[in-house]
Amino acid sequence: RTDDAEVVVFCVPSYACQRRTTLENHNTILTDALSLLAENAELSDQEGRSVAFRRAAAVMKALPGAVTGVTQLRGLPCLGEHSLRVIKDILETGASAEVESTKQSERYKALKVLTGIFGVGPKTAERWIREGIHTLQQLQDSGHTLNRAQQAGLQHYDDLNQPVAKAEADAIAEVVERAVVSVSPGAQVTLTGGFRRGKPTGHDVDFLITHPEEGGEDGLMSKVVSRLESQGFLLYQKTTRNSYLESKDGPARPASNMDRFERCFSIFKLHEDEGRGTGHPGTPTGNTAAANSGSPGDSDSRSQIHGGEQRLLVSGEDGGPEETKPAGHRPWRAVRVDLVVSPISQFAFALLGWTGSKLFERELRRWAGHEKTMSLSSHALYDNKQSRYLRATSEQEIFAHLGLEFIPPSERNA
Ligand code: ATP
Ligand code: MN
Ligand code: MN
Repeated sequence: RTDDAEVVVFCVPSYACQRRTTLENHNTILTDALSLLAENAELSDQEGRSVAFRRAAAVMKALPGAVTGVTQLRGLPCLGEHSLRVIKDILETGASAEVESTKQSERYKALKVLTGIFGVGPKTAERWIREGIHTLQQLQDSGHTLNRAQQAGLQHYDDLNQPVAKAEADAIAEVVERAVVSVSPGAQVTLTGGFRRGKPTGHDVDFLITHPEEGGEDGLMSKVVSRLESQGFLLYQKTTRNSYLESKDGPARPASNMDRFERCFSIFKLHEDEGRGTGHPGTPTGNTAAANSGSPGDSDSRSQIHGGEQRLLVSGEDGGPEETKPAGHRPWRAVRVDLVVSPISQFAFALLGWTGSKLFERELRRWAGHEKTMSLSSHALYDNKQSRYLRATSEQEIFAHLGLEFIPPSERNA
């Protein structure tokens, strides 16, 4: 025991959903390395490998201090031979040859560039790479026919690969909320995804929409989307109809992890004025929207004149840097936005399912299945032993059903 006396040995539970993982990470070099290998495996259609690396990275993220030697890792879960070797290489030599060579490889770089296009997944990227397409230029020169999503993705490539800031998410939240309430006054909008977990930036903005009356959410998505579209806020949208089948005694058991909510994958046109958060409800409004070329109000300016709405559409009303903008400066940017509509009866499950992180969700489902003989989805929790659904109206109740300590969103950053 004496040889261990000076060594801090870490100890963490094996499922990520049993751990509190904040955004504070004491081992970023190690977790970046493992995440890169996870990403590379995912892009190469090796899901098992990818999950193994993600679990290993999540364990390192959960440690309360920086790891300095491999002896500290004794007894930690989810660290396979491969992950341990990568960690050991970095701790002992400062780098992992495998990580470095992956990062430099033409294949990895091409996969990153191509899957960086909204609408392009690993399989499509792989196919293009086999044809020798490694860059956006080569893709454009190839004459491949792109679908509508990919065309929009290519068109807004730079914007969509630039992180979304919390202030931008809040500005979009205001726009979405106004649109939702205007088509259904009682409806509620909740920010989910990474921003609900307290992340300062994200790759998109995720919203969950519901109505306090069961059924009140019917037809809501198409109305919200039409409203946003008529206001000129959507550069692209694809709405998927709800395909969740109800049975007499409750929602049908979901066949896979993919949920069946009505959802909309969109690309939002976010104006600079909206992102600055300088507007105040009740700001005096004038009918200046029409003069502001390309503003979201152009196509529907009449509905924009009413109190509180106009402010988002007026450029430079705060005396901001309007005049000092360089010529050709574009006063808006494209942002990926996901909208999901859930009936109130499934809201808690949808909220839990859409808050993430992805690994946290995966671990919750694994815990439910392997430790509790239950099936968890974004719609429901089914107890296979009792052969019945377990109802819940809050995330807290779901954790309780699962026999887990409640983990708040800010500690689900696994
Ligand atoms: P980021 O900041 O990169 O956006 P994020 O955690 O918000 O991080 P998203 O990809 O936006 O990541 O996913 C948010 C949540 O939505 C995750 O918990 C994920 O499980 C869930 N989710 C995303 N896509 C789907 C889908 N097609 N079906 C079901 N759930 C999904
Ligand atoms: Mn997100
Ligand atoms: Mn999303």
